[in-house]
Amino acid sequence: MTNRLTLKHTFVQQYKNGFPLIKKEALNNPNTDIQEGSIIHLHSDKKEFIAKGYVGYQNKGLGWVLTQNQNDTIDAAFFKNKLARAIGHRNTFYQNPATTAFRVFNGEGDGIGGLTIDYFSGYYLINWYSEGIYMFKEAIVKALEQLVDYKGIYEKKRFDKKGKYIDDDDFVKGERGEFPIIVQENNMNYAVDLNEGAMVGVFLDQREVRRAIRDQYAEGKEVLNTFSYTGAFSVAALHGNASKTTSVDLAKRSKPKTIEQFSVNGFDFEAQDIVVMDVFDYFKYAKRKNLTFDMVILDPPSFARSKKRTFSAAKDYTGLMAEAIHLTRKNGIIVASTNNATFNMKKFRSFIHKAFENTSTEYKVLNEFSLPDDFKVNKQYPAGNYLKVLVVQKSE
Ligand code: SAH
Repeated sequence: MTNRLTLKHTFVQQYKNGFPLIKKEALNNPNTDIQEGSIIHLHSDKKEFIAKGYVGYQNKGLGWVLTQNQNDTIDAAFFKNKLARAIGHRNTFYQNPATTAFRVFNGEGDGIGGLTIDYFSGYYLINWYSEGIYMFKEAIVKALEQLVDYKGIYEKKRFDKKGKYIDDDDFVKGERGEFPIIVQENNMNYAVDLNEGAMVGVFLDQREVRRAIRDQYAEGKEVLNTFSYTGAFSVAALHGNASKTTSVDLAKRSKPKTIEQFSVNGFDFEAQDIVVMDVFDYFKYAKRKNLTFDMVILDPPSFARSKKRTFSAAKDYTGLMAEAIHLTRKNGIIVASTNNATFNMKKFRSFIHKAFENTSTEYKVLNEFSLPDDFKVNKQYPAGNYLKVLVVQKSE
């Protein structure tokens, strides 16, 4: 039986234009009893067919639109066709030996919200963002197998009650990787483990930023990399001949992971500082010691709770940025990044502007980044274009 849901009159045009997320507030009678993975039809209040989608409950909504064509059936061939198009769009990535890790399928940007697929040097990683999309696993894995050669396929089930990663053996099929595998990104090496929790060691969406740090900004600089995770930005800075890097992250695992990233690139980790500390405590420590840097990299999570405090990018970025400004030398550079989808670039610029205003400092925006081409974005869904990076220079 097909489930029919009626759109509120005021939302009909938005869905006609191709808006992909099935939002509760857009529906006349939001029925939250429909089973995960069910196909639903959206109709206008005048009973006109608008779109078909699937039910996959997640914090963003009830599910995702899959097609606006009434004649499409949502079956194995449908998924194969979406994957084939997406893979075709990444042709230049597959053919570039300097970069062997990239996104092959980017959710609603490639026509299926709640599903992403990344490529890591022969291995594929599928991210399922709801139980609903996971119901189509067989068809989607089969389609992928028919379309590409692969060594192994892994998955992340990101749909526990809070929409978080479910810890599991993430191997799906093929041969198991001997992790870490080393992937290339613009001829830099990154160690990746596809079967060790929610994160794999490198965030592919920052590729262009890492390249810019290496090619345009790092030469001769003393670099402070905050929220450094495995130190991917520090690696890029060292490839760009930074004189010294300091990587700061709260997580204990960040230290061995950063040592590993330095080592697979032939850098002596003992010549670098790797500090396991709350960034806000590090700022205090640096102030006490009068430490300053030529370049500060800020890439906090959208939301983080530690024993002492919670950080929310939407509320606290201006304060964080002000701290970074204090530690940055004149003419120094700050790379300010956020992956928070709840505000746009304009708003992010206003946070940065405010921080300079509050610290009575002048600045210049040198560069701006959003998602790279493999992270295809749906124009009707700007929240999907979540990455915002500003490179700013503190003036004299
Ligand atoms: N910039 C990294 C990704 C950052 S992920 C990269 O490009 O690879 C966010 C990181 O912030 C996580 O590693 C987490 O451990 C760390 N983190 C969260 N809150 C923190 C805090 N208060 N102080 C230091 N690190 C923090």
